[in-house]
Amino acid sequence: MAGEAEGRVNAEALLSWFREHKRDLPWRREPRDPYRVWVSEAMLQQTRVETVLRYYEPFLEAFPDIRSLAEAEEDRLMKVWEGLGYYRRARLLQAGAHAVVERHGGRVPGELADLLALPGMGPYTAGAVASLAFGVAAPAVDGNVLRVASRLEAWDDDIALPATRRKAEAWVARHQPPHEAGAFNEALMELGATVCTPRSPRCDACPLAAGCRGRADPSRYPVKSAKAAPREMRVAVALARRDGLLLLEKREEGLLAGTWGLPWVEVPPGGDARALLRAHVEALTGGRTRVAERPERRGEHAFTHRRWRMEGYAVEAAGSGGSWRRPEEVALGTAHRRLLETTQRALF
Ligand code: SF4
Repeated sequence: MAGEAEGRVNAEALLSWFREHKRDLPWRREPRDPYRVWVSEAMLQQTRVETVLRYYEPFLEAFPDIRSLAEAEEDRLMKVWEGLGYYRRARLLQAGAHAVVERHGGRVPGELADLLALPGMGPYTAGAVASLAFGVAAPAVDGNVLRVASRLEAWDDDIALPATRRKAEAWVARHQPPHEAGAFNEALMELGATVCTPRSPRCDACPLAAGCRGRADPSRYPVKSAKAAPREMRVAVALARRDGLLLLEKREEGLLAGTWGLPWVEVPPGGDARALLRAHVEALTGGRTRVAERPERRGEHAFTHRRWRMEGYAVEAAGSGGSWRRPEEVALGTAHRRLLETTQRALF
């Protein structure tokens, strides 16, 4: 129940609104299975529900339990994840599955501390799994909950700061009914996703409107510091073809770790894109390489903190090394797949 100092959150009203209005989503079917909750939470990070709906069931068909995920070939995992983006999530999910098999005999632990000790498990996901699947009274503060709490309490704190997230976690903990901790978390998220939306909150339909301090001007909340503009990167990409195959590479580190892509290099300001690309392809294939004078195709791709301006050069590589594959056989990063699709021009 609401604490006396605030006294503004009518948890009962929120929960009964949730029971009536919640969307029927496959990861909400009872009884909750911790593995399925975990998968859904990993997929929903930075990704729209409509997109996750296309991936959730196929993923669970491919990897129906913790062990099958832990034992999956990485390429197969990436192929199933392909198009969902932020591939690091899939790798972390698998690393977490490994740890559950090794430390907990394949059963997802129900203690918050054990969940938090798993690789890739942040406070939000741990709180969501603990509260939704095990009924543990733990907060799960995502962007929706941060926004709702900021508006309800008219906070002037910058929501980009870790301290504000901690403040929101403490706020949830104070208001969360212990016997319905998971439903309370989920109801706040649902309220943020469907009523207290970023741009056009529907205060008239809000079960918490009576106690909302930010209602007079919801657009003031949450307070956000200006975001740094994404860093522009010029990227030269090799289109090296041979007998219906393309030269591909898989990077183990950085932004696209774990995914296959076309060979690429970042070109610093004033840098020679062709020379850098030639050196990179020669290192991959071990032989002489020629790079076309002009790009054959161009594309752009926005990541969270970066924007790539891509130039795709036709490349002739004489070396015998490197991975020559059909691009549809592997999980190709979205940026590169889009580059291949940028023109109608045939690839081969
Ligand atoms: S009353 Fe409006 S601003 Fe306040 S929580 Fe509800 S939808 Fe958000």
